[in-house]
Amino acid sequence: MAGSIKRVLVVGGGISGLTLAVALRRRGIEVDVVELAPRWNLLSVGISLTGPTLRALKSISLIDECVGVAFGFDRIVFADAAGNQFSQLNMPRLSGPDYPAAVAIARSALHEVLIRASERLGATIALGVTAALLDERGDAVEVTFSDGRSGTYDFVVGCDGFHSTVRKLTFHDVPEANFTGLAVWRATMPRHKDVDSMQMFYGPNTKAGVNPHSRDEMFLFLVQPIRDGQRLPPDRMHLLLAEQLRDFSGSVMSHARECVNDPAKVDYRPMNSFLLPSPWHRGRVVVIGDAAHATTPHLATGAGIAIEDAVVLAELLASDLSVAELLERFMARRFDRCRLVVETAVKLGEMEKDKTIPIQAHFDLMSATFRRLAEPI
Ligand SMILES: Cc1cc2nc3c(=O)[nH]c(=O)nc-3n(C[C@H](O)[C@H](O)[C@H](O)COP(=O)(O)OP(=O)(O)OC[C@H]3O[C@@H](n4cnc5c(N)ncnc54)[C@H](O)[C@@H]3O)c2cc1C
Repeated sequence: MAGSIKRVLVVGGGISGLTLAVALRRRGIEVDVVELAPRWNLLSVGISLTGPTLRALKSISLIDECVGVAFGFDRIVFADAAGNQFSQLNMPRLSGPDYPAAVAIARSALHEVLIRASERLGATIALGVTAALLDERGDAVEVTFSDGRSGTYDFVVGCDGFHSTVRKLTFHDVPEANFTGLAVWRATMPRHKDVDSMQMFYGPNTKAGVNPHSRDEMFLFLVQPIRDGQRLPPDRMHLLLAEQLRDFSGSVMSHARECVNDPAKVDYRPMNSFLLPSPWHRGRVVVIGDAAHATTPHLATGAGIAIEDAVVLAELLASDLSVAELLERFMARRFDRCRLVVETAVKLGEMEKDKTIPIQAHFDLMSATFRRLAEPI
């Protein structure tokens, strides 16, 4: 029996919002997406999509398009600051033998796949618009948009990221995000010929890594302990990152240091972590993705759990369950799993700051968490 949810408003056209639009359209539900940005601002920096994320994308028939514009790999290599490998994490192919265990992909390439699929499947997307007012009336939500239009929806989903407006409009007493005491640097550069999977390098003060997101390009990341969310001079970003990279040697990291020569291509951000207490819904409004849980990138899984949220929510919205039942099942399937990611990522960051903890302990925690995340959702 088809469910009672026929029309959904998705607020936010990021990774979770567009994945939800695709997943809902695949199940025949009408979808409007409103995105605050007046035009798509697609970052070329790369992102990793782990095995569970690819599995979720496969369930909504998006895996081929994503893998087609990404770089696949089956292992993460762990090395010291001089580039000597001391361990390797072999990851299972959760989507079957024909797909890699994980990929790295340019954010812009992922976004283009999601936009194309949403539009092809009939979702409408309005740019430069947001939901200004949400008024729940019985079994519908009346929405007033920032451009003066209005609409009636069976359900509204806030996919509007860490600073979510839907969360502010809907929830009271939301806890503050936690500043982790870490910042992450990222830069895109030509791929070193030996980089064919994610590689991590543990230095005396920082952890760095590289990941190939296409045949020609890879991205560098470096995680640095900091005291506060200090602002850095935009015109010196490349010099400051190159300085951090002096702790590392070996051909890959030397190549990375040489390539860091343009301040405009360096991204730096202090890292916060946030978990909205359960439940993530009030009436017929729910928040998913970073609006509900924002994690540091230590497990490369923030977008992954946002994509999973979207897939699970679409499945339940299309079911014949009552709204109360489907939301209860949604929280049962999502909360502990997302908490595991958020809390473990914080723990890995804390371990990086404490130089008395052996690197093997980081590796063990990461491996154990990936094993748990491989379980079905
Ligand atoms: C440095 C860094 C590295 C990361 N690396 C990885 C990785 O390798 N792998 C991984 O899985 N995850 C990674 N993540 C996490 C990942 O980027 C996020 O978890 C993911 O982008 C969350 O998607 P989202 O759609 O929920 O939110 P967002 O990506 O923030 O998208 C929200 C969208 O909503 C729009 N919006 C905001 N406000 C409104 C409004 N009021 N109305 C309408 N629209 C609005 C925004 O413009 C945006 O388009 C990383 C994060 C960081 C910071």
